[in-house]
Amino acid sequence: MKLTEKYRKMLFGLYPPRSFANGNFHKISAFSNVGVVETSDGLVIFDISSRINGSKVFNSLREITDKPIKYIIFSHGHYDHCFGYGPLIEEIKENKWEMPQIIAHENTVTRFEKYRMLDKYNNWVHDQQFGSVIGKNKQYNSAQEILNPTILLRGNENYTFKCGEYKFELYHDKGETDDHIWMFVPEEKVLFTGDFIISCFPNVGNPYKVQRYPKDWAHALDKMREKKPEYMVPGQGPLIEGREKIEEILTITAEALHFVHDEVVKRMNEGKWFEQIYHEMLDIFPEKYNHEILAQVYGCYRFAIHAVYRLYHGWYNTGNPTDLFPAKKSEIANEFLKICGEKECLIRATNLFEEGKLQLALHILDVIINATNRLNTEILLKAYELKIRILLQKEEKESSFIASNIFLNEVNRLKLKVSNLSK
Ligand SMILES: [Zn+2]
Repeated sequence: MKLTEKYRKMLFGLYPPRSFANGNFHKISAFSNVGVVETSDGLVIFDISSRINGSKVFNSLREITDKPIKYIIFSHGHYDHCFGYGPLIEEIKENKWEMPQIIAHENTVTRFEKYRMLDKYNNWVHDQQFGSVIGKNKQYNSAQEILNPTILLRGNENYTFKCGEYKFELYHDKGETDDHIWMFVPEEKVLFTGDFIISCFPNVGNPYKVQRYPKDWAHALDKMREKKPEYMVPGQGPLIEGREKIEEILTITAEALHFVHDEVVKRMNEGKWFEQIYHEMLDIFPEKYNHEILAQVYGCYRFAIHAVYRLYHGWYNTGNPTDLFPAKKSEIANEFLKICGEKECLIRATNLFEEGKLQLALHILDVIINATNRLNTEILLKAYELKIRILLQKEEKESSFIASNIFLNEVNRLKLKVSNLSK
C-alpha cells in the first residue's frame, strides 16, 4: 500500500485529458501518454498505451472527438505504448471504416518477435518490476496478439507525411530502446517524445532490461531541442508548455546523460573496473541534477552508471580472476561459517544494522543465509527477520520504484521462508 501511495501519480498517470495548441491537439494519460492530433482528414494517434488501459484510452478519445483514426504511430514496442489497440480496432470493424496506417520502426517488428519467443520470461520480469504494486501474472505484456505495423522506418531513415492540414515529422533515434521514434508537428511546434522524456530521470539502466543507449539518447534530446518546441507530450507525466521550460527540460536531461556517459567512459579509459567507477561516480554526482525533472523515482543515476559500463564492457567486470569461474555462493558461505560461526555473523550483522550500515549488514547476513550446512535453524530465522527489517528500511528511503520493488519482492520471499521455517 505504501508503495502505491509513494508512486501513485507516476504509475497511474492521474492527469486528466488535456487539449492544447489550437485545440486540435490532445493528451490522454493512461500510465503512458497518448497523443492525439485532430486533422480535417481524421486522427493521428501517437501511442495507444497498454492492453489494460485500452478502454480508458478509447473512452477518453471518444469524449474528445468522433473522427476516424487515420494513422497510429508506435513510439517504440514497449507494452505500455502499443498494446492498447483493442477497443479502437473494434470500433473500426463495427463501422466498417478503413484500417489506419500503423507506423513503427523496423526494430519494433523484431522486438515483437523477441517478445513472443520470451513470453513467459517477460511476464516474470514484469512481475519483478511491478508485482508488488499491481499484482502478478496478468499477461499485460504478451505480444502473441499485436497490431502489425503497415509502414516501417528502416535503419536511420526519417519519415514525413501529411494528414489534413498538418505535416508530421517522424525521427528515429536509439535511446530507451533501439526502435524509438519521436514526432514533431512544425505548424504548432508540438513535440511527442515517447519515452525519451518520462518526467523523471531517464530509465536508462533498468536492472532487468536489455541494453539501452545513453549517448544516442542524449543526442536525440539535443536534436529535439533544435526544433524549438512550444508544447511537449512526454511518454509519461503532464503536458509541458512553453519554449523556455521545454528547452530547460531537454537540456538538463541531455546534460545528465552526456555526463554519466562521458564520466564512465573516461574512467574506463583510465583502466578502472566497475566497482571503482561506480563508487567514484556516486561521489561526483552533480548537485544540479537534483532537479525536479530528473527525480530518480523510476530510472536513477545509480542504474545509469551500469548502463554505460555494460554498453562497452563484457561480463567480466571485476578484474579479479577469482570471479572468472566462481565457486557456488553456498560453498563460500560454508567456509566463512567454519571460520567465524553463524552466531558471530548474526551478532556482527546486528551491530552493523544498529550503526546504520545497512548494506554491509546485508552482506554479512547473506553469509548465514547462503550457507547450506547450517546447524542452527533459529539463527537462520533471525537472519531472515533481520534481512526483512533492513530491506524495509532501505525501501523506505529508496527513491526508485524499480529498486523499491526489488526490495519488497525479496521481503515477500523471505516472509514465506520465515513462515515455512516456523511451522
Ligand atoms: Zn518504454
